[in-house]
Amino acid sequence: MGIQGFIRTSLFVSIAFLGLGAWCKAWVLAHDSPMLEERLRMVREQVQARGIKDPRVIQAMGSVPRHRFVPDREVSRAYQDSPLPIGYGQTISQPFIVAYMCEALELKGHEKVLEIGTGSGYHAAVLSLLAKEVYTLEILEPLAEAAKNRLKELGYRNVKVFCKDGYKGLPDEAPFDGIVVTAAPPEIPQELMKQLKIGGRMVLPVGKGEQELLRITRTDQGAKVERLLPVRFVPMVPGKREP
Ligand code: SAH
Repeated sequence: MGIQGFIRTSLFVSIAFLGLGAWCKAWVLAHDSPMLEERLRMVREQVQARGIKDPRVIQAMGSVPRHRFVPDREVSRAYQDSPLPIGYGQTISQPFIVAYMCEALELKGHEKVLEIGTGSGYHAAVLSLLAKEVYTLEILEPLAEAAKNRLKELGYRNVKVFCKDGYKGLPDEAPFDGIVVTAAPPEIPQELMKQLKIGGRMVLPVGKGEQELLRITRTDQGAKVERLLPVRFVPMVPGKREP
């Protein structure tokens, strides 16, 4: 074989290996059946058995690969009935809580939703299957970057991640049909109330030690507040003051 033939053959073999590698990865991602079984069990035992009824929420919880949103060392626990550490002292919420908060927003599919506290991006991915557009704010740069890349890689195209202070919301994109807050402020953030549409809902944990999950519906006259559940979220941290 001449040098040209050798180069051609080597090139062909390399391309064939690259192609095979990409195909194997795609196959593993599409057929991760042990994880799929665990996920469907999670939906039955932790979501449906505890009273979540909205079929769209059930479908979304069964579809988002939660194990892709946790650090490698937590993958085997991804479908457990608990929050899990995601680094920087933060956690991905318990699956039931994610489903419960999504159901409480009563989304139909045409909405524009704001999430405060992107964390791993998991809750945003679930929301992206329930609403038209999702905007999510994370105060910690490394978490925001990682979530942005992960959501892109997994194909959740209607989610936009911003590294910003959630207390300020996203005035440029307001008003929102729904707002969900996944870290607990001591009181209801008034700036977020202003960014909610009349008739829109905000679901958030509020409190310092003891926290309560609230659903607030903005009305013509002001707001209707419903107390849903006692909960425990990481605290929402005050952002840096801008000069
Ligand atoms: N929804 C996340 C759970 C996130 S935990 C998930 O599905 O994984 C709460 C997140 O809120 C943390 O990542 C924390 O850094 C973030 N956070 C806390 N205070 C914030 C603030 N003022 N603005 C934006 N994000 C904040």
